[in-house]
Amino acid sequence: MVVVSTPDSVLVVGASAAGLSTAEALRRQGYRGRLTILGAEEHLPYDRPPLSKQVLSGVWEPQQAQLRPRAALDALDAELILGDPAVGLDVAARTVRTASGRSLRADAVVIATGLRARTLPGQDGLAGVHTLRGLDDAQSLRKDLLAASRAVVVGDGVLGSEIAATARSMGLDVTLAGPQHAPMAMQLGPFAAELLSDLHAENGVRLRLGASVAALETAGGRTTGVRLETGEVLPAEVVVVAFGAAPVTDWLDGSGLRLENGVVCDACCRAADGIWAVGDVARWHHDGLGTMLRLENRTNATEQAAAVAANILGEDRPYVPVPYFWTDQFDAKIQVHGVLPTNAEVDIVDGATADRRFVALYRQAGRTVGVLGWNMPKQTRLRRSELDTNAIATPTGGTS
Ligand SMILES: Cc1cc2nc3c(=O)[nH]c(=O)nc-3n(C[C@H](O)[C@H](O)[C@H](O)COP(=O)(O)OP(=O)(O)OC[C@H]3O[C@@H](n4cnc5c(N)ncnc54)[C@H](O)[C@@H]3O)c2cc1C
Repeated sequence: MVVVSTPDSVLVVGASAAGLSTAEALRRQGYRGRLTILGAEEHLPYDRPPLSKQVLSGVWEPQQAQLRPRAALDALDAELILGDPAVGLDVAARTVRTASGRSLRADAVVIATGLRARTLPGQDGLAGVHTLRGLDDAQSLRKDLLAASRAVVVGDGVLGSEIAATARSMGLDVTLAGPQHAPMAMQLGPFAAELLSDLHAENGVRLRLGASVAALETAGGRTTGVRLETGEVLPAEVVVVAFGAAPVTDWLDGSGLRLENGVVCDACCRAADGIWAVGDVARWHHDGLGTMLRLENRTNATEQAAAVAANILGEDRPYVPVPYFWTDQFDAKIQVHGVLPTNAEVDIVDGATADRRFVALYRQAGRTVGVLGWNMPKQTRLRRSELDTNAIATPTGGTS
């Protein structure tokens, strides 16, 4: 097996959180060779968490989501090629073909192409129906929300819950529909998901949970709402489809890489000799958990990027993070370290749930496997040290 430990050139495909962080980590860790970052979008690299919060609500101008000022990007000394998606990869030659016909070769290629939102049948081309993954999506959704009075959000996961909260804060009549018994039940477990459910209800979000959406209702090329499996119709001028996203790997079809719910990698995030994957698109073997894992969260994008950069430079160390994610909805800042198994004992160790300021420890067989903080970021961080990282198994929060 040929392992490139000191490449002369690195090509990063995907110019967002994970891709840019990999490039920055390479430079920070002393890499001085040729560096190219290839992105499908025309925008300078931007951050996605603000899209469903500050950008959608209008608290931020879209450019405030930009990850780095132009000067910092220039200081990276990287060639930034934007608006030209990769369309193919020759693994043996480590060469990427782009839509415009470029052929880019490098000693190491990093795949950081993230996710694409899933859609409902019949959604394409229908006015008033949105997904939210990129900056253009956020701007177009905001425009429609500003002109509407009723919105339905299809999807009771993190993104759907956040969009429902933001749209409601913008004054719309909002219904959140999805198959779970409470918003984010899969990520938060029953205890915290019930609290979140209460928070949404108190803020006026109509919850239509426990029923899947059967179809979009339409008239004259526009949506008029959604129909649930139960037959109930939820009328709306705007429908947001937020029921998951799929790894962007179609450009790798036929490359010989293993593509199963992401780019399959070893414990060091290596997909093949000289080929690496990072961020939402990467599914790697987490040696600590003893399982394949793909994390869809912002912190992982940065942490995995640092690990991949070190491994490209020859460290060859397995990536074994403690899963972490956060979400902001209404006045709640929720943070989760580790995992929150449904059968765990939940112990409030700081604050009180009645005050909506608390830290809960999740224990299984006497060992702390998860920490959930609700509007107590400092205490949550401190409590993280109580996690028994060896005991964390069967991941849940923000993972797939
Ligand atoms: C609206 C929203 C809100 C979120 N909020 C939170 C939050 O509150 N907390 C949290 O922890 N996480 C949140 N996340 C998740 C977090 O943003 C992601 O985990 C993170 O963006 C992953 O970074 P990434 O670089 O792996 O993928 P992405 O950010 O998806 O970037 C992938 C990039 O690759 C580009 N690309 C795709 N195909 C190609 C191609 N063929 N060639 C070249 N480039 C290509 C894309 O255009 C994109 O720029 C949120 C995500 C979204 C969408």
